[in-house]
Amino acid sequence: MSDQRVNLLDLSPEDLKEFCVSIGEKPFRAQQFLKWIYQWGVTDFAQMTNIKKELRERLPTLAYIKAPDIIAEHKSADGTIKWALDLGDGQVVETVLIPEDDRSTLCISTQVGCPIKCSFCRTGASGFNRNLKVHEIIGQVFAAASRVGFCENREHKPISNVVMMGMGEPLLNVTNVLKVTEILLSDFAFGLSKRRVTISTSGIAPIIEKLAGKVDVALALSLHAANDELRDELVPINKKYKIAEVLTAVKHYLAASNANCGRVTIEYVLLDHVNDSTDDAHALAALLKDVPCKINLIPFNPHDGAGYQRPSNSRIDRFYKVLFNYGFTVITRTTRGDDIAAACGQLAGQVKNKIRAQTV
Ligand code: SAH
Ligand code: SF4
Repeated sequence: MSDQRVNLLDLSPEDLKEFCVSIGEKPFRAQQFLKWIYQWGVTDFAQMTNIKKELRERLPTLAYIKAPDIIAEHKSADGTIKWALDLGDGQVVETVLIPEDDRSTLCISTQVGCPIKCSFCRTGASGFNRNLKVHEIIGQVFAAASRVGFCENREHKPISNVVMMGMGEPLLNVTNVLKVTEILLSDFAFGLSKRRVTISTSGIAPIIEKLAGKVDVALALSLHAANDELRDELVPINKKYKIAEVLTAVKHYLAASNANCGRVTIEYVLLDHVNDSTDDAHALAALLKDVPCKINLIPFNPHDGAGYQRPSNSRIDRFYKVLFNYGFTVITRTTRGDDIAAACGQLAGQVKNKIRAQTV
């Protein structure tokens, strides 16, 4: 018979209140569970000492707390760590921690593979398998925290930022992504500031519109081209939602948001002699002249069979300078974790056998 118990990692703070009521408890118990789980990393009900004994003994018949198991850990020379997590149905998902001087950013996945199939992305090339469940997404943060530390009551958070820039398109798994966001922001759980949680999207215009005013976290738009013709080729969802429609939706989202300080992050992968000429940079500046934004240039991270090259540093610099001279805030993102295939667009989770061979 299948397990009818609830995995508490599948529940948003609101769901958890409903769960408490459904088992005859007061809704405030949800706060206690959230703290034990996400601030202290406790998965055994017996250790939850502020919960009455009778309930502690009954809970294992009703619920359990389980994140996907880490089956491999790779550390880069630059401190980046990549973990592979076993989802239990033969699928593997990857998550990456990028430590920096003043913060530690966890890059999480929202799908196994990705249906958008951007022409330069390794995740897209690996096909699409399925959406991740809530416990499989928040479980990446939980699993990473079990290695680098939960926040407990300390001011210092071992994981200070979470970006949905791993495998998958977050807005095609939006119901689960929103629940995850609530757990990340809840003061009783991870308690992250809304500026430190980022949803990165290839531009699913109607969903961005729907989220405007409903959720408030940082938004990053993966643009990669300044005209529809080229974007149709690089980001195929553009055939459905054109640049103008996406930018309009983004403006509506910004208008209702505090988390972005009024500016969306535009991501632009630089592909040698495809979208990196100075003409492309001028066209991008014209396109974005009325869009409050900061621009992240991401030099292409090569992977087998992509058919693209990373531009030379001088081409990257020239592109940067054109935008900078227009007055845009521009950052050229340095590649982290390249030696362990943990850089942007290099994640692909179904190499289970290969990973198993290196299991920690
Ligand atoms: N699907 C979402 C989030 C995951 S991809 C999105 O597309 O925004 C996260 C970022 O990595 C995107 O900006 C994406 O364009 C970029 N990316 C994908 N493949 C890459 C590669 N090979 N080199 C550099 N960046 C890449
Ligand atoms: Fe999917 Fe993002 Fe990769 Fe495009 S870049 S295929 S949307 S994960």
